Amino acid sequence: MSPKYPNRVKIAHLPTPLHPLERLSKHLNGPTLYIKRDDATGLAAGGNKARKLEFLVAEALAQGCDHLVTTGAAQSNHCRQTAAAAAQYGLGCSLVMKGHEPAAKTGNLLIDDLLGAHMYWAGDQDTSKVMAQVAAELRAMGRKPYLIPLGGSNVLGATGYVLAMQELMTQLTTAALNVDFIVVASGSGGTQAGMVLGAAVYGFRGQILGVSVSPEAQALTTQIAALVTATATHLGLGTLSLAHKISVNDDYLGEGYGMVGEMEREALRLVAQREGILLDPVYTGRAMGGLIDLIRWGAFTRGQNVLFWHTGGAAVLSAFADKLS
Ligand SMILES: *Cc1c(COP(=O)(O)O)cnc(C)c1O
Repeated sequence: MSPKYPNRVKIAHLPTPLHPLERLSKHLNGPTLYIKRDDATGLAAGGNKARKLEFLVAEALAQGCDHLVTTGAAQSNHCRQTAAAAAQYGLGCSLVMKGHEPAAKTGNLLIDDLLGAHMYWAGDQDTSKVMAQVAAELRAMGRKPYLIPLGGSNVLGATGYVLAMQELMTQLTTAALNVDFIVVASGSGGTQAGMVLGAAVYGFRGQILGVSVSPEAQALTTQIAALVTATATHLGLGTLSLAHKISVNDDYLGEGYGMVGEMEREALRLVAQREGILLDPVYTGRAMGGLIDLIRWGAFTRGQNVLFWHTGGAAVLSAFADKLS
């Protein structure tokens, strides 16, 4: 299987580090834990969207577009990294945010502002409708907008994570390391879809476990399966079904998306204080909380190697100050 990759610009600092979590592993007394540091991709405070944007921005430039338009929740990391990519390539950026404008610009909203993004608040309206309106206004002004879906999760975004699996396999081979499980936070599914396809392409034999931060497992699994198939087709790999390789856990949704509970608080403090690594309360805190819970329930054996894929997000921390302290 040899994928034919679309054009890519260089945005992320790659390869991101892979290293053991010795003190955390010892503390939890379960499997041996490793971490893949996609919080260190760069692009205005790092995160998984940098890998996706390498392909999305390349297509925007190839189409002669001069403006990126995307959408997300108020504290969206995807919006923040899209605004940064736009700034890096001299493009305009419009962000359609879900809900109503909060009183204070904190966390990612502050960074979006510093990066010069234009903000639109969808209020009670459907964000895709507002995105279409914003794009129409830009066209009327003679601009050429490029629309990026929620989370950058289309075939181009997922492609970033197909290649991330190649990067991981090279690191594992060099370190003579065998990973039994990858645990990753899953939201719009593009990251997990890319990983599942990349695992098949590059021969990763472990299991990939997505911890959902919001959708129910069934819905997210279906969404990921469709994206895996579409991405495989886009990369010239033919029709490929990897539905049996898609594993999503929705046991840790708590009060819902972005609602911080005791589990996230504990995971954040534990990883910060045992490893000096910052997680975020919305994605990686929830995924790590899930991983810790699974370890405590004995889901893994002592000799197994479990890799936590850090997808970034700590730029939101100050916006959650009242929920975290
Ligand atoms: C967007 C995001 C995710 C989820 O990635 P998807 O591809 O949307 O599933 C995970 N972690 C962080 C920090 C994110 O910003």
